[in-house]
Amino acid sequence: MRISVFGSGYVGLVTGVCLADLGNEVICADVDEDKVRRLNSGDPVIYEPGLRDLLARNLREGRITFTTDTKKAVEPEIIYIAVGTPEGEDGRADLKSVFSVAETIRDNMDGYRLIVTKSTVPMGTNDKIEEIINDRFSDFDVVSNPEFLREGRAIYDFKNPDRIIVGTDSEKAKALMNKLYAPVIRTENPIVFMKRNSAELAKYASNAMLATRISFVNMLSRLCENNGGDITEVSKGMGLDKRIGSRFLHAGIGYGGSCFPKDVKALQHTLKDHGCDSSILDAVENVNHDQKDILPKIRKILPELSGKRIGLLGLAFKPKTDDIREAPALTIIQKLIQEGAKVQAFDPEAAENVAKQYKIEIKDTPYDTAKDADCLVVCTEWDEFRSLDLERIKGLMNQPNIVDGRNIYNPEHMQGFNYIGIGR
Ligand code: NAD
Repeated sequence: MRISVFGSGYVGLVTGVCLADLGNEVICADVDEDKVRRLNSGDPVIYEPGLRDLLARNLREGRITFTTDTKKAVEPEIIYIAVGTPEGEDGRADLKSVFSVAETIRDNMDGYRLIVTKSTVPMGTNDKIEEIINDRFSDFDVVSNPEFLREGRAIYDFKNPDRIIVGTDSEKAKALMNKLYAPVIRTENPIVFMKRNSAELAKYASNAMLATRISFVNMLSRLCENNGGDITEVSKGMGLDKRIGSRFLHAGIGYGGSCFPKDVKALQHTLKDHGCDSSILDAVENVNHDQKDILPKIRKILPELSGKRIGLLGLAFKPKTDDIREAPALTIIQKLIQEGAKVQAFDPEAAENVAKQYKIEIKDTPYDTAKDADCLVVCTEWDEFRSLDLERIKGLMNQPNIVDGRNIYNPEHMQGFNYIGIGR
């Protein structure tokens, strides 16, 4: 099938490359000239496990091309919209890019098109896309096909989705979507067809639910801190209940990333705009905001921060990605710099992205990050931090202080350190 994808970011690029790998002919359009040039030369631009090889293979075999020529991207029958929908100034989703793509499609299409919205958009947005295109054409379908991939496992998730949600009532669109996804559909992960508005909300609801679990546990972690409990034990006790399950019940320094924060805020606004109560999400957001402020914990073991050297282990908002959007580490860096501390940090993939925005010293290894530090703060739970030689770390540090923002260490193994975790 001939397919185009507008937006070559984390979602559009992975979608385009994976669709090409299934044997389709794919054109990816992006407005960022530098990105397009790098992608055509085989540089994946972002870090995502397996992406470099998959991109190289599909470029070599001529199944994928990248272009800034948006007109060309309106030629295929199936057109994905995977542009960003970042948080706008008022907290609502900024839909400028989505509507601009809709206008490009309207102005250049010349026959039936299936428009597949992958970008996360509030309820009713696909109706507006339809209205824009309806200005000139009537032979088209707009379906909502929200994306559920997880950064760090995006290619696996494309090929092994828990579910594929498609919001449409058009039989023609359903047939095309069934054909397109046939290679990845299994009995246990079917395409779930539903109303378009329901599909739009299902995406926000899923992210908001996961964020709610995280904030719920973080709220309880404070009670544990004040009363001598251990939140990791509480989470285990809850998670073993099959009705609850153990995922997304880990206390830490809050959720970040390009999705949870903006999607929770956008859903709060959608609820309020439609006269509905958003109090659960208001609380989720408040808890997360406070949870990201880890300075009080650092101060417990290091009351004066001015002039002190703080080492950060991990900068990405979660492991296995170089994405730093809304990463809790950024909040910590800003606060430490304000306090006059010197910040040195290591992250296997995200360090370069942070160094572009903040004046911190980037180190090559976790051990270099511990050297001369007055406190180490674990911000991202990369696996390689779990098995560090802690005796060596202790020997390198100026003072043996560790604030474990992700509870990756067992407090019983931290003899000789002043150790503070979350909720324990
Ligand atoms: P991104 O910022 O990484 O990529 C967006 C890309 O769109 C950029 O390369 C940008 O240059 C390009 N773009 C902007 N306007 C354009 C236009 N008019 N025409 C062509 N290209 C244009 O964003 P992302 O993380 O890939 O997210 C895309 C969408 O998918 C968002 O709505 C997001 O909420 C949703 N989503 C993201 C994830 C994730 O893990 N990143 C997961 C699920 C859903």
